[in-house]
Amino acid sequence: MIQIRDKKFVPFIKAGEIKAEVASLAQTLNKEYEGKDVIFIAILNGAFMFASDLFKEIDLLSAISFIKVSSYSGMNTTGRVDEIIGLMTSIKDKHVVIIEDIVDTGITIEKVKKLMWSEEPASVETCTLLFKPDAFQEKEIPKFIGFSIPNRFVVGYGLDYDELGRNLGEIYQLKEDDSSEKNMLNIVLFGPPGAGKGTQSERLIGKYGLSHLSTGDIFRFNISNKTELGELAKSYMDKGQLVPDEVTIKMLRAEVEKNTEAKGFIFDGFPRTNPQAKALDELLSELGTSISAMLSLEVEEEELKTRLMKRAETSGRPDDADPVIIQNRINVYRAETEPVKVYYEGQDKLFGINGLGPIDDITKLLFEAIDSL
Ligand code: AMP
Repeated sequence: MIQIRDKKFVPFIKAGEIKAEVASLAQTLNKEYEGKDVIFIAILNGAFMFASDLFKEIDLLSAISFIKVSSYSGMNTTGRVDEIIGLMTSIKDKHVVIIEDIVDTGITIEKVKKLMWSEEPASVETCTLLFKPDAFQEKEIPKFIGFSIPNRFVVGYGLDYDELGRNLGEIYQLKEDDSSEKNMLNIVLFGPPGAGKGTQSERLIGKYGLSHLSTGDIFRFNISNKTELGELAKSYMDKGQLVPDEVTIKMLRAEVEKNTEAKGFIFDGFPRTNPQAKALDELLSELGTSISAMLSLEVEEEELKTRLMKRAETSGRPDDADPVIIQNRINVYRAETEPVKVYYEGQDKLFGINGLGPIDDITKLLFEAIDSL
């Protein structure tokens, strides 16, 4: 990521991709204008780098001219074309190829073309490295296009933001404004069965006003209400297995979508697999937000078993009461769920929390981790 003045930009089109596309455009032009009296007219300032690289690959006997039009200011295309400066060569009866770095609304290029036509050229076409179909307002789209891109502000390879960034060898696009990201606190409370996720969740909800989503609780709610989803989930839960991703993700999506006005979410028992983690990222990104942190409660296996057997006395959960099922749940955690930590570690969002000791002490550690975000 790079910063230019107040804006952040992220890589978009790599230098190698640009090079290949420029070569391919040149090849097309070489074929199209073979044997014709052609003149290239590049529009300054933005097109200087593209024009230079493109022209090196042109093997026609042709001239190049650089013109300037005044139409751009800041980040908006004003569409105002006052005059063309610098067109010294006659274009009468010549095939004109206008070289542009980017065509967005198309208003500028349309006005330039009109001015050109008054000089009676044989033809006028546009060759643009970048084209924004969603922003384009004119009828005639450029004949030669390098890349069609979404309607995002771009810099680099001749294109500027407030006159800076033209020297970059690759093209960057404006990073989605961080302030446009919803200011939500989204926590994944993670850990093996019996780590204390449920207990600690209640305390986090209280302090941070988060909406609590426990996939285990939702499944149990469905089981007690004898829904179809409950029937299906039960067959897996009773054996200590995971409910299939497809079912779980669909259910979680529906729950999140019911609560989009929440201050944030605490995800308890989800994600339990890497595909679930990816799906959660996608879902939150659709809502314009993301996971703030994964807080992973670390508790050793023997302690987990003791806690679960004790919990069985009051929870009434069949999967807490049977040592074979408990062992299976722990095994499934190790094999399928623990790797999810690596996923969040890769995003620099993983916080390991010691889950042993008095409940209040663990809560304090969780609060500290959240407050450090
Ligand atoms: P929990 O209440 O979080 O211990 O979950 C109880 C059981 O519900 C688990 O053993 C799974 O069978 C099922 N379950 C809960 N969350 C998930 C999930 N994210 N993916 C798959 N199965 C889940």
